Amino acid sequence: MKHFDAVVVGAGFSGLYMLHRLREQGLTVRVFEAGTDVGGVWYWNRYPGARCDVESVYYNYTFSEELIQEWTWTSRYPDQPSILRYLNHVADRFHLRSDIQFNTRVKSAHYDEPTGRWLVSTDDGQTVSATYFISGVGCLSSSNTPDFKGLSGFTGEHYHTGTWPHQPVDFSGKRVGVIGTGSSGIQAIPVIAEQAKHVYVFQRTPQYTTPAQNHPYDDNYIRETKANFPAIKAKLLQSWAGTNIRPAPDRVTLNDSPEERQRRYEAAWEEGGWMNTGYKDLMTSVEANEKLCDFVRGKIRSLVKDPQTADRLMPTYVFGSKRPVLDTNYFATYNRDNVTLVDVKAAPIVEITPGGLRTAQAEYGLDTIVFATGYDAITGPLFRIDIRGRNGVALKDKWEDGRQIRTYLGIANAGFPNFFMITGPQSPSVLTNMVLSIEQHVEWISDCIRHLRENAIGSIEATPQSDADWSQHVRTVADSTLFPRGESWYNGANIKGKTMPFPIYVGGVPAYREICTKVAANGYEGFVLTPVPAETV
Ligand code: NAP
Repeated sequence: MKHFDAVVVGAGFSGLYMLHRLREQGLTVRVFEAGTDVGGVWYWNRYPGARCDVESVYYNYTFSEELIQEWTWTSRYPDQPSILRYLNHVADRFHLRSDIQFNTRVKSAHYDEPTGRWLVSTDDGQTVSATYFISGVGCLSSSNTPDFKGLSGFTGEHYHTGTWPHQPVDFSGKRVGVIGTGSSGIQAIPVIAEQAKHVYVFQRTPQYTTPAQNHPYDDNYIRETKANFPAIKAKLLQSWAGTNIRPAPDRVTLNDSPEERQRRYEAAWEEGGWMNTGYKDLMTSVEANEKLCDFVRGKIRSLVKDPQTADRLMPTYVFGSKRPVLDTNYFATYNRDNVTLVDVKAAPIVEITPGGLRTAQAEYGLDTIVFATGYDAITGPLFRIDIRGRNGVALKDKWEDGRQIRTYLGIANAGFPNFFMITGPQSPSVLTNMVLSIEQHVEWISDCIRHLRENAIGSIEATPQSDADWSQHVRTVADSTLFPRGESWYNGANIKGKTMPFPIYVGGVPAYREICTKVAANGYEGFVLTPVPAETV
């Protein structure tokens, strides 16, 4: 059986950088990737309008000054083709492809106690062994198509935004149904509407979405950003989400007059992005949160001409308890004659028919259905792999199908020696700039592995107490905020039968980094380090 020092799953932002760092240390590494090329979510998400909602110049690796200097982003928010080009450039520049096996899905990874190795099996029938097993599967890579009655009999075409074909889909002259109004649907709908004969949007929950105000970058901005990158990175690391470089918000919403609040909300709306209003209590005060919700609802009313459609687009949940969305022309799209909003909360989808879709109220003739129905998020990508630790215990069982996630730092697990998760559950992950969080995890894991190897330590494993304490801490921090108040993919509410306690650490990037750094500095506090048996040293 072929042996590698490390097996890494996935060749997205996580897997590529992990491979690079481990190879620098001289490790043998094999990356398995299900796609035919690099890119991870940016390889699969090719739907019309796909774009990142973190600004381009902050959404890239920062580990290499040369890479920063040689790559130039062209617009404020990068579109999918640009990000994919960037990741291809990274793969070429650091000669990564030779250690990646494409078209290969990891089916299982079992810890073999007698040898202390991971046995990793793939869908092409091979099994390899590895000292370290590292997941770079991401949080949103397991797409969810709800089990609608009749789908297999649909005579038109259907697509999921998360597994979009590589060839452009032609919507011209077509009656298109889009199911779902999360980030993917909200980005795709305005673009599809420009081409299709008619678009029916099947909306279950109306969303707060604010304008991206995307625009091309000018040369001066790019020059300044490149010249000041170390300072920019330092500021990103100080910000709660790692997504902007402005000072931390310090104002209390209700301390300002209604006029001052309105002025700040308007300025943030015009500037675009994550509604940077300067208020620090958005996610801790229901009253403060409701003020912003009111403002956005007012905007919807002013942007959508038909009052009934505007009513149906009014969100009512706590802003931020579902992932906020940035859009381009979303609400204005409902003023088009060829767009119809259908409320499927009021009249749920009953079935897909051969010629379209039937709700409890009406039937819609469709040529194409776009499922923008999201993901079995956070735990889904890990549970697709049969990961088993000591005594053959499956990760899925340890976490009780997600009802009881227990990790240490969102990186490690008691009972699973030498298994590392990049941006795993209970780390800041999806509430932060993913690239920055990925870099931090990859660097922490590679420093850890260096420490193990330099000190003849055969395995590292979180203690059950560390698991329990970290999980409790994640819950306590989340419960002091409004984040867990919504029904969203954050807590599994989008998937029938799935429930999870809020699985993201919301203490912010600076606090989290400090905790991880301290754990390492204290000799990997909270872990058991087991020396390599004497006869094998
Ligand atoms: P999502 O946010 O989970 O949205 C899925 C949509 O489908 C929701 O509107 C959901 O309604 C609806 N839906 C699900 N099942 C349904 C059913 N059975 N019947 C009717 N409607 C149903 O998924 P997403 O839009 O793909 O986004 C997921 C995440 O990916 C985002 O939140 C973001 O983190 C990331 N993403 C980012 C970008 C970006 O960077 N700009 C772009 C795309 C995705 P409910 O709300 O009622 O559940």
